[in-house]
Amino acid sequence: MISKMLKNNSFTPLVSEEEWHNMYPNVDREYVWTYPLIHGSQPFDPRDIFGDAKVPIASYDTVVYIHVPACLFRCPMCPFYVEIVKSRDDLLGYADAIIKELKMYAKANVLKKLNLKTIYFGGGTASLLYPEDIGRIIKNVKELIPHKNEVEITVEAHPKTIDYNYMSALTAYGVNRVSFGIQSFREDTLKTLGLRQTPELNKKALQDAIKLGFKTVSADMLYRTPGQTLEDLKQQIDEFLSYGITSLSAYSLELSVREGSLRSLQPDDNVDREMFYLINDKMNEIGWNHTAQPDYSHPDHIHQETVVTWKAPQGQTIGLGAGSCSAFNGVSYYNVHDINEYLKVVSEGCLPVLTGQTYTIEDAMSRYLVLGARSFDMQGKPFRDTFGVELTEVFGPEIRLLEEQGLLRRNGTGVEVTRKGKYYVDNISKTFYTVANRCHLQPWGEKMKGAVATSYLHID
Ligand code: SF4
Repeated sequence: MISKMLKNNSFTPLVSEEEWHNMYPNVDREYVWTYPLIHGSQPFDPRDIFGDAKVPIASYDTVVYIHVPACLFRCPMCPFYVEIVKSRDDLLGYADAIIKELKMYAKANVLKKLNLKTIYFGGGTASLLYPEDIGRIIKNVKELIPHKNEVEITVEAHPKTIDYNYMSALTAYGVNRVSFGIQSFREDTLKTLGLRQTPELNKKALQDAIKLGFKTVSADMLYRTPGQTLEDLKQQIDEFLSYGITSLSAYSLELSVREGSLRSLQPDDNVDREMFYLINDKMNEIGWNHTAQPDYSHPDHIHQETVVTWKAPQGQTIGLGAGSCSAFNGVSYYNVHDINEYLKVVSEGCLPVLTGQTYTIEDAMSRYLVLGARSFDMQGKPFRDTFGVELTEVFGPEIRLLEEQGLLRRNGTGVEVTRKGKYYVDNISKTFYTVANRCHLQPWGEKMKGAVATSYLHID
């Protein structure tokens, strides 16, 4: 069964070295979130997902990521594949398809060896699912995948789509973490960026979530917004923290071509660096962990999804739903990026995988560091235990180069990102790309919209 693409067969287009990698001292602004890169043009056999792994597996800690690629409106800067829906009713049947897809993994008998750490409902707008549907998915995931400790269960929510009753229902279904796309409390910033939430809705969402007693309340914050000063940012951070959140993701704003005119109003690279360290210093001062760039958490609220996905050695990610991305059993793969196609394929008993890549041993070793850099600490022992060779031996030249630049330092048999290197984490990641991955861009969902496969793996 060789899956072939019908259209969009180059999701990670080849670009020149110059376009691909901004060499230090320039900061690379391409956010490295997945690796190895799936080109979409190479043949892929989806049976590898369920077969014997072709590379050693370092960790069976598992994220189940449920993707809901639907929104009520489109934000101007959005790079993701999303479909615009009118109401929650437009997603009726989606939860059943997710559960059916999960059961295909159970039928293939690959779930029993896993250790479920976290279930993450992301999007799009995950809060467009009804709470009962979220509850049914949680129940099925927990029944089918072994877990030793309490499972972290996150729902991403847009402040415009939820209220106290909605969130109260989530707590009843075991959701213990909510993550809000707050972005800013300033009305002028929200308006300039074309975002639909208001400062009042943002405040209400956080206050309600704290009142309801979710274990962790997290917020996304944008900085380097048009016209923002360091003093404005200081006030924003204080305002975010004043609501009692215990986790914060701070993103330096990247404007797409559609908002090119706003770019000239953004603080320049020097101010951007100052803003990065202003946030970093503030979080250190209050004792929070920089779990991964761009995520900060109170030490009792470390975000498990980030840890399993990025921290070396990375665990397993089972992505369910249209447009999801998985990294499982030594294979990275994407589901079809089309909700109707997804529902149809799953209803026919087939795995809705669009395309993927089975790792080579070089991919697996390089992935340890490419993604591990986001979490800063890449220890030597798990690498040696997994691959039978020292990390510093395999990547000697790359490590020396980054040491000379002051971005990385050795830590026993492993390496760690320095304070200076934290600002250059994507430069560091790209230094460890294999030749086959170099000059390919990260895949952003919008590029894959509407791509379907000519055949799918039927699960009996
Ligand atoms: S930025 Fe988020 S809320 Fe806005 S359209 Fe994209 S996925 Fe939806």
